[in-house]
Amino acid sequence: MQVVQRAEQLAPAASQRVLVPTMGALHAGHLSLVRKATEAAGEEGVVVVSVFVNPTQFNDPADLERYPRTLEADVEALREVGADVVFAPPVEEVYPDGPLTEVPLPPVATEPKLEDAHRPGHFAGVCQVVARLFELVRPAKAVFGEKDWQQLRVVEAMSERDGLGVEIVAGPTVRERDGLAMSSRNTHLSSEGRRRAPALFAALREASLAKLAGAGPDEAEGAMRRVLGEAGVEIDYAAVRDARTLVRDASTDWRGSPMRSILAGRIDGVRLLDNAPW
Ligand code: AMP
Repeated sequence: MQVVQRAEQLAPAASQRVLVPTMGALHAGHLSLVRKATEAAGEEGVVVVSVFVNPTQFNDPADLERYPRTLEADVEALREVGADVVFAPPVEEVYPDGPLTEVPLPPVATEPKLEDAHRPGHFAGVCQVVARLFELVRPAKAVFGEKDWQQLRVVEAMSERDGLGVEIVAGPTVRERDGLAMSSRNTHLSSEGRRRAPALFAALREASLAKLAGAGPDEAEGAMRRVLGEAGVEIDYAAVRDARTLVRDASTDWRGSPMRSILAGRIDGVRLLDNAPW
């Protein structure tokens, strides 16, 4: 396995590259995406995992400051799981002239009022870094997690719109035994907060149960809010939306189109998100 800091050190692209973009502090969720990338790459392809804590997608400097950085352990985990290349660039490799001009945002990054409403500027940073990583690595495919559903949809929409020629592959959310979606931020929870955190998954399950019992999206949203509220989660949003556009209005055919329950909230000031098919 090669560990490089500069794009020019990547071996010439004799075969297809499959990129897995990460911010490091890797857990089993990330590693499942690397396995997915290995499958997508086939015999000939090369799996490149980028580890880059992108400053432009953090709207809170304190969050950026305390984001866990564990490159040595990440490299070891990636070696074990069979990645071919770790690309861990310094900020000036990604943004040689300072942050680039802004990449225009697709509607799914601005209209749903989900992450876009609670983390202003976040998707501008995500689109910027993804466009730049695609430019540097030139992958044929890139793997993203369903865990960050709105992000996945934003990246898919951007790639389609700009004809980037990168096939976006989605990997399912990997969870702890009690249902909590794995996240690098889980390590910031107190032990008491950690005990309450499975409420996010429980709320998604409750929304599905409500649907099975005949409820519509509004009632399902109420059910999620109740479960989250009882666990003392400070809710940012708990919504049932069209799975593709992430909006829902009177014209949404929620019985006929794929829908997604999606939520975010804070426990002990640690921001957690999750989603599931509805
Ligand atoms: P991050 O390092 O948090 O930026 O995440 C890098 C990639 O891993 C993103 O595509 C995430 O959606 C994905 N990811 C994060 N957590 C999980 C998880 N629990 N299961 C599957 N994928 C995940």
